[in-house]
Amino acid sequence: MITFDKVTKAYPDGTTAVNELDLECPSGKITALVGPSGCGKTTSLRMINRLIEPTSGTISLDGESTADMDPALLRRRIGYVIQHAGLFPHRTIVDNVATMPKLLGKTKKEARTRAMELLETVGLAANFADRYPWQLSGGQQQRVGVARALAADPAFMLMDEPFSAVDPVVRSQLQDEFLRLQKDIGKTIIIVTHDIDEALKLGDQVVVLRTGGILAQSATPLELLTE
Ligand code: ADP
Ligand code: ADP
Repeated sequence: MITFDKVTKAYPDGTTAVNELDLECPSGKITALVGPSGCGKTTSLRMINRLIEPTSGTISLDGESTADMDPALLRRRIGYVIQHAGLFPHRTIVDNVATMPKLLGKTKKEARTRAMELLETVGLAANFADRYPWQLSGGQQQRVGVARALAADPAFMLMDEPFSAVDPVVRSQLQDEFLRLQKDIGKTIIIVTHDIDEALKLGDQVVVLRTGGILAQSATPLELLTE
């Protein structure tokens, strides 16, 4: 479970991006955070893996405050997927995915084997492994991004507009595959999106944000539509 307890982020210029946010994201489920541009979605996500520090309030993973954790160790527990995948441009596909297993102490060969398994899991054929990111389509790069995030076998996944950089047909396909994958892996996931359709499709729980706080929250997407 990921918990926000009265979390506020005020940037140095005075912008309050997140204001006393309370949120519970249940274990093994997908929480979709949806809302217009500028409402604090990315800020909320990046506070969880401490790329940004909250001004006040507490964020906890399974009851343990992230403020007490070593940021590097914290980030190994949390897979992070961003728009445009953010792959290392000068590394091959398999090296992009193998970086984390290597950091976690696997040998080069073990790390490569693990990376190849993960690439297969996200539906990328072995012949992509030794190519470079620029040689792949946007949708293929997003698959690599997901594989890389899974490489530390994290219990938690944060996904920031993971499918929005691809065309609608590919997006829909990636969403379907991702839901099938989640059935097997059962991670605790937060997906940030500005697309209400995507939120309703992917979220076990949907939270609608407006500037500074929660507008609506539902246990199930259907509940949100019928409230
Ligand atoms: P979203 O992801 O929902 O589009 P963000 O979390 O990126 O929203 O931004 C929330 C608010 O905080 C916006 O008003 C944005 O302009 C502001 N903001 C984001 N990053 C910074 C920053 N580094 N410094 C000042 N203001 C920022
Ligand atoms: P080097 O090979 O130069 O020692 P690393 O392989 O440790 O560098 O990683 C390069 C950069 O990418 C570092 O800033 C590291 O924190 C970051 N990084 C490593 N693995 C991942 C990952 N799975 N997801 C996102 N960033 C990562």
